[in-house]
Amino acid sequence: MFTPAPGRYGAMPYRRCGRSGLDLPAVALGLWQNFGEGTPETRRREIVRRAVDLGITHLDLANNYGPPPGAAEAALGRLLAGDLAGLRDELVISTKAGYTQWPGPYGEGGSRKYLLASLDQSLGRLGLDHVDIFYSHRFDPTTPLHETLGALLTAVRSGRARYAGISSYSAERTVQALAVAAEIGLDLLVHQPSYSMVNRWVEDGDPSLLDVVGDAGLGTVVFSPLAQGLLTDKYLDGVPEDSRAARGGPFRREFLTEETLGHVRALNEIAAARGQTLAQMAIAWVLRDPRVTTALVGASSPAQLDSSVAALDGPGFSQDELMAIDSHAVD
Ligand code: NDP
Repeated sequence: MFTPAPGRYGAMPYRRCGRSGLDLPAVALGLWQNFGEGTPETRRREIVRRAVDLGITHLDLANNYGPPPGAAEAALGRLLAGDLAGLRDELVISTKAGYTQWPGPYGEGGSRKYLLASLDQSLGRLGLDHVDIFYSHRFDPTTPLHETLGALLTAVRSGRARYAGISSYSAERTVQALAVAAEIGLDLLVHQPSYSMVNRWVEDGDPSLLDVVGDAGLGTVVFSPLAQGLLTDKYLDGVPEDSRAARGGPFRREFLTEETLGHVRALNEIAAARGQTLAQMAIAWVLRDPRVTTALVGASSPAQLDSSVAALDGPGFSQDELMAIDSHAVD
């Protein structure tokens, strides 16, 4: 029997998701790499319970999270039927479809057939009748945007999703998607791009993706603000055995050059001077932009989640600190 911490909603700041009526926690938890069959059930339970206790109301999934694909949704489904029973309406649960999920021509991309079948499968694994946010996980250049966004509209109108979002669409594709969404009567809630001190593509261009989503009133949920663990003290002295890089998943090992690590060590010193860990500064840094609604982190232990949420207690950034951080941008 799990009784969530009574003070959890007082501890977490909630930020309005664009011009919608939905508040999201400043730090949300993603279940991409640490919620598959390789993670013991007890560990998954501990992490999700801690998230709830910390006031993290938003849990992010995709059809393919595991490994194997689907395992993360199935694991959360078991928790929703157990520890989290009774808490469904206190949570914002998102899922996505876009990358390969099953063999054959209907198991990936942006077609109406794939997106709606995948959403139904996700709901089955989660044991839910709706998710809160359903995303197009990636732009599919072979499918008309009308079809992809039309499928999101069907998901919302049929009650299988409360809101719709897009993920990793470029600024240009987002402008196009917003125009199609307006035409068909779909309110896009949110964009989910990657963003961190070492991955700043959302700032590039005129207009940048952040300009586009900010002007359109979409919220922004930014993923991998810790660059999958690079922006922590984890890799400063080599690759520890219990790290994502050592496990050999999708971690970008090309980041682990002496040159990049030199920048990471310098960023670590800036963080220390602010009285924070590097991970905490990395999270505070993405949240410094009011167009960013939520920093979407991963965690392989409850302690990492404690540390990430403590980022919210840190000081604001001075101009000097921001310039020093910019001088160590590595992409
Ligand atoms: P992060 O950048 O937050 O990386 C998380 C990893 O960093 C953890 O697994 C852990 O690595 C390490 N870490 C976290 N906190 C600490 C700490 N305090 N000290 C040391 N190390 C720490 O995010 P993710 O890359 O995990 O992505 C977060 C979420 O974003 C995903 O779960 C998913 O929901 C979403 N996402 C969306 C994508 C999309 O296409 N829309 C793509 C990728 C992610 P370790 O395991 O080594 O301990």
